[in-house]
Amino acid sequence: MSLLPTLFLSHGSPTVALEPTPAHRFLRTLGARIGRPRAILCISAHWETATPAVTAAERPETIHDFRGFPEALYALRYPAPGDPELAATIVARLAEAGFEARTDPGRGLDHGAWIPLMLMYPDADIPVLQLSVQPASGTGHHLALGAALAPLREEGILVVGSGALTHNLADALGRLRAGATATGEAPPDWALAFDRWVTDRVERGDLAALAAYRERAPFATTAHPTEEHLLPLHVAAAAGGGRGRKIHESFEFGSIGMAVFAFPDLA
Ligand code: ZN
Repeated sequence: MSLLPTLFLSHGSPTVALEPTPAHRFLRTLGARIGRPRAILCISAHWETATPAVTAAERPETIHDFRGFPEALYALRYPAPGDPELAATIVARLAEAGFEARTDPGRGLDHGAWIPLMLMYPDADIPVLQLSVQPASGTGHHLALGAALAPLREEGILVVGSGALTHNLADALGRLRAGATATGEAPPDWALAFDRWVTDRVERGDLAALAAYRERAPFATTAHPTEEHLLPLHVAAAAGGGRGRKIHESFEFGSIGMAVFAFPDLA
């Protein structure tokens, strides 16, 4: 296998697992385009800790960390194996890079990890680990985390940041209550403007601008009232060498950005 890219993908609403939206259809083709990695390390917005933690269960459970969704979603399982030995190796590498990191043998896979991976690799036969985000520590910390993970690409390990390019849940829920469907609405101007700004910086490899997106990007705090759904982008960008390419673009429920970036690109 040639050198793996790293990915930032937007996982959107849990319903993306079942609804054949453009993002769903794209993710279903993506695993075959990348090929089969030795293992997958997913940095999901839905696991927040004070210091970096890596899942180390032999058989990570499928966590249904969402409420009020269709029953069929709660019946889904993604029984990918873990890899405790690899988890220990990654923690050691993070420690060498100066992070206070630890393994977590009890933690399973949250929906930010298993829903997109279920679409990309439906056989669930590739080991999956998760690395937590530290929203209190900001963008620079997540760029440094990504830089420490960069050698994993050469070892056949696919690094996947999973969040959302724009993620204003109050806005999306308001639209949903007003009858919006996943694909029935045009994105608002603020979401498009933020998406364009980030895409441009990613395609130039401008990590300094991405680090300062909250001050520099248009509508940054509207697009991300809190940062956890964007920080996986910083990890993936730094792990993949900085410069990337947008390989998918769509929006769901009007304002949830479903973009996917590959760093540096897909082969
Ligand atoms: Zn999410």
